[in-house]
Amino acid sequence: YSTEPSLQKEDSDFKDGKGFKGHDMLAPFTAGWQTTDGCYAYDANGKRYLDALAGLWCTALGGNEPRLVEAATAQLNKLPFYHSFWNRTTKPSLDLAKDLLETFTARKMAKVFFTNSGSEANDTQVKLVWYYNNALGRPNKKKFIARAKSYHGSTLISASLSGLPALHQKFDLPAPFVLHTDCPHYWRYHLEGETEEEYSTRLANNLENLIVKEGPETIAAFIAEPVMGAGGVILPPATYFEKIQAVVKKYNILFIADEVICAFGRLGTMFGCDKYNIKPDLVSVAKALSSAYMPIAGVMVSPEISEVIYSESNKLGTFSHGFTYSGHPVSCAVAIEALKLYKCVSILPLRKSISHPCRERNIVEKVESISPRFQDGLKSFSDSPIVGERHWLDSWYRVTDNKSPNDPFPSEWGIGAYFGSQCEKQGLLIRVAGDSIMMSPPLIITPPEVDELINKYGRALKATEERVKE
Ligand code: PLP
Repeated sequence: YSTEPSLQKEDSDFKDGKGFKGHDMLAPFTAGWQTTDGCYAYDANGKRYLDALAGLWCTALGGNEPRLVEAATAQLNKLPFYHSFWNRTTKPSLDLAKDLLETFTARKMAKVFFTNSGSEANDTQVKLVWYYNNALGRPNKKKFIARAKSYHGSTLISASLSGLPALHQKFDLPAPFVLHTDCPHYWRYHLEGETEEEYSTRLANNLENLIVKEGPETIAAFIAEPVMGAGGVILPPATYFEKIQAVVKKYNILFIADEVICAFGRLGTMFGCDKYNIKPDLVSVAKALSSAYMPIAGVMVSPEISEVIYSESNKLGTFSHGFTYSGHPVSCAVAIEALKLYKCVSILPLRKSISHPCRERNIVEKVESISPRFQDGLKSFSDSPIVGERHWLDSWYRVTDNKSPNDPFPSEWGIGAYFGSQCEKQGLLIRVAGDSIMMSPPLIITPPEVDELINKYGRALKATEERVKE
């Protein structure tokens, strides 16, 4: 990936691609999931699981939010589909675009392009950036810099951007125009005595060296998740984004924020960019945009980029790109309603039967108020001999890592996988990658549900400790 020392370090979780427990298309499937209810999922045997991952970091509003179902049903009855080609689209897609642009306040964004998935959104980013540079007469400014352990999707380009070997090996990826720089995991990679700020400076210097070595005139964009998700919930160290942004700005390189997991309250702020003061040129959103009830994702583009693309002097012609389902009206109608719930805008009268305490509240605020309970619960496991890094945000992420950065458990012990199986036994769904444990419960989780989560987590941890002793 990189000539940087931090990336060459032994890393048993990810080096061989085994740490990223991806989804195997060729494996036999079972019809495991029957129904969902709030923060719970039920399997084919009727077993109830507390879903501490919100599906795949996406069902932020839980498993049966009637307002989303009603929004979808009303739209299906009115206009189940029309496409967005040839400059005509549907009202829900126009309304959602406007709403999204107003909701993103980290900086002004000018335009939205809708896709069906986060992977397509990131592929679209690459085409937009190339088109933009071509329109500016800079056809050689084509390379992208992403980070080791990042996850940006599974299509050829988004998998190339991702920094996970499992997505590259066997597929002849990454594509040659993609470079990777350091993963900003302070706990694992900092040098002895190095502070977080010093570590961030070193990473920013490494990035600058890479840019200079490659030739700044060849680097088009840098892409980053505000908090790395699937690679292990890796929080940026202090001053990291400040320093990284200064470097990319210096060399006229665009900044793409991949907000596919972080957006819509996950970090206790509406967007990850708000939390880390990121001023991106392009933004990808997906997942919680519709709380995953319908597939939809999107790309937001800054006014500067939009002006170049739409300027009269742009001789390139049409930006020929689009999907049959771009701006699907049912997906857009659901996403409009989801945004109302995140922002606490009530339009539909509440049914009497709906008593969920979070349902009529500002969801993002709710995250702030409930997260201390989640964090305190997890802190109670701090002394566990098998917990290495104890990491949580103001909001919802948590990663337990293996024993110590320099002395990990041998990967063949499969500690993380064992912990995951114990959680399942307890009726708790989490995400395991190597020995990293990740959670991102639905944002509507209630205090008793948080307590249940912590209890189940604790029991699974105890069972895993016993196993390690053996
Ligand atoms: N970007 C990030 C940060 C993600 O976490 C994901 C999916 O987990 C993607 C992109 C890809 O999204 P999708 O699975 O919708 O293609």
